[in-house]
Amino acid sequence: MSFLSLLTGSFSQGAADNPTVAMIEAAYRHHGIDARYVNCEVPPEALGDAVRGARAMGWAGFNCSIPHKVAVVEHLDGLGDSSSVIGAVNCAVARDGRLIGENTDGQGFLTALWTVIDPAGGSLVLFGAGGAARAIAVEAALAGAGPITVVNRDAGRGAELVELLNERTPAEADLVPWQSTYRVPEGADIVVNATSVGLFPDVDARLDVDPDSLRAGMVVADVIPNPPRTALLAAAEARGCTVLDGLGMLVNQGVISIRHWTGVDADAAVMRRKVEELFGLLDPPA
Ligand code: NDP
Repeated sequence: MSFLSLLTGSFSQGAADNPTVAMIEAAYRHHGIDARYVNCEVPPEALGDAVRGARAMGWAGFNCSIPHKVAVVEHLDGLGDSSSVIGAVNCAVARDGRLIGENTDGQGFLTALWTVIDPAGGSLVLFGAGGAARAIAVEAALAGAGPITVVNRDAGRGAELVELLNERTPAEADLVPWQSTYRVPEGADIVVNATSVGLFPDVDARLDVDPDSLRAGMVVADVIPNPPRTALLAAAEARGCTVLDGLGMLVNQGVISIRHWTGVDADAAVMRRKVEELFGLLDPPA
C-alpha cells in the first residue's frame, strides 16, 4: 500500500514559470523529504475554493503570491504574529487541523540581512510601500531597526505603511513622497529597494536615486531576484557599500516555508543553486 506524499504548493496567477517550484522541490529531493510542491493557477474568484480544496486534501500548507496575499486572510483560521501586523500572508500552514497564515517574505529578507548586519538600532531607508516593503518594514521594525524612512511615489500608500509602523511596531517611521531624485541621507545604515524597479525584463529601469549619495559603510539591499545584480547594487558596490541581492530573500523565505510545513531546516545553498541555474547564472559545465 502506498500513501500520498506530503502535499504543498502555491496559489498564484500568471506565474507558471514560478522558480519557487523547482527551488522547493530541489530541497525536498536533497533532504529525502517525501513531499511535492505544485504551482496552481487560481483566479481571484476561486481562491476560497482552492483553500477548501487544500484543506480537503490534507495539504501541509501553501504559498500565496500576487494577487492572493491579502485576499487569502479571510479563508484562513488565524494569523501568525507578524503576518497579522503586515496584513498579508504568503505562507499558510496546517497546524492541528487549522490553517494559519504566516508571512515569510520579510523574515526571509531579515535572514539574509543578518549575514551582513544586525538591523537593531540601525536606521533604514526603504524604497516602496507595496507588499514586499510592508513585510520587510514590519519584520525589521520588530527586530529593533529604526528610525525607518519610507520613500514612495504614491504618498497615500506610503503614509499607510508609515502609520502602520508607528502604531503597531516599536519603530519610529516617516515618509518622503518620491517626487524628485532622492538623496540618501548620510546617517542611513541600511538602504533597501523594495519596489519592482529593475525586475526582468525591465532590467534597464533605474530608481530615481542619486547614486553618489550611497556611501561606503552602508548596507544596500535589493528585493529584485532576477537579475540579482541590479543597477542599484552595481552603483552601491562601486561606492564601497556592502550589497545584498534579492536571491537571498527568495531562498530564505522558501527555507522558512519548508520549516513550517515539514520541520526540516533546508539547505539554502542547494536552493540558491537551483534558482541560479534557472536564471542562467551558473557557468555551463566544462
Ligand atoms: P507591489 O505592486 O505591491 O508594490 C510595488 C512597489 O514598487 C510600490 O511601492 C510602487 O510604488 C513601487 N514602484 C513601482 N514602479 C516604480 C517606479 N518606477 N518608481 C518608483 N517606485 C515604483 O509589489 P510587491 O511589493 O509585491 O513586489 C515588489 C518587488 O519585490 C517585485 O519586483 C517582486 O518581484 C519583489 N519580491 C521579491 C521577493 C524575493 O523573495 N526576493 C519576494 C516578494 C517580492 P507606488 O506605490 O508609488 O506605485
